[in-house]
Amino acid sequence: MANLGPGRVIFIGAGPGAADLITVRGAARLAQADVVLFDALTDPALRAHAPDAKWVDVGKRGYTGAPGSPDQATINALLVTYAREVDVVVRLKGGDPSVFGRLEEELEALAEAGIACEVVPGVTAAIAAAAATQRPLTRRGNGRSVSLTTAMTREGPLRGAQATRSADTEVFYMGGKQLAALSRRLLAAGWPPDTPVSVVSRAGWPDQRHSEHTAASLAHAGALHAGRPAVVTVGAGAAAVPGVPAGAGLRDAGHTECTAGTTP
Ligand code: SAH
Repeated sequence: MANLGPGRVIFIGAGPGAADLITVRGAARLAQADVVLFDALTDPALRAHAPDAKWVDVGKRGYTGAPGSPDQATINALLVTYAREVDVVVRLKGGDPSVFGRLEEELEALAEAGIACEVVPGVTAAIAAAAATQRPLTRRGNGRSVSLTTAMTREGPLRGAQATRSADTEVFYMGGKQLAALSRRLLAAGWPPDTPVSVVSRAGWPDQRHSEHTAASLAHAGALHAGRPAVVTVGAGAAAVPGVPAGAGLRDAGHTECTAGTTP
């Protein structure tokens, strides 16, 4: 490892769920931590990698966070403060730090303070969902591009007018609460009503759930995935691979929850 000197911050992608989905490098860096600032969607079992570190919960959901959870400016300030006090600060983020992880704000704050950083990638939720359902995001022939999109903006949920259709497979993050709106948006963007849509919540956790829909029927997924982090995969990469039974990935991994298809 490059010697970055004392007082550095290492951003580590914890992966999407169960603690063993962190990378080997992520686990090794985590073991060096004096202080760990961690997010809501990380597995508490990861504490075993750094039992003597000080663990600070900075979890928040969405752009504004739940009442009482620290805002982004507070997290930035905590990173700078701890980096000046100890050798290694780990910023542990769910999935991959570079995907909807507010990484740019934190890198910017640390750069301004002259603090060295390193980023260790993790498995992002879109990839975990593809693995869980054995539905590859890219497909030879008709699935040549993938986009990762947030269904949430600083101003709130996306509206139909902001519809796009930018890739053969589109994966939406942070859309769990607005599946009906997302369905309207997809249709407005020109996706045929029978376009396959796959919804996976808590991918990578023992209680992960999967359901399959169409662009027109996506709203039906709401009840099954309510209150759980979910990704919505639309288009080529949402279709089942011929011959692979529905829910195969979930069962093979020894998980208890299985598919609940609601395709009409
Ligand atoms: N950096 C994270 C994303 C953080 S934004 C990553 O790379 O995965 C939070 C959103 O990620 C949630 O609203 C949900 O859409 C998605 N998400 C995070 N963990 C998930 C999981 N285990 N299963 C399904 N979606 C998940």
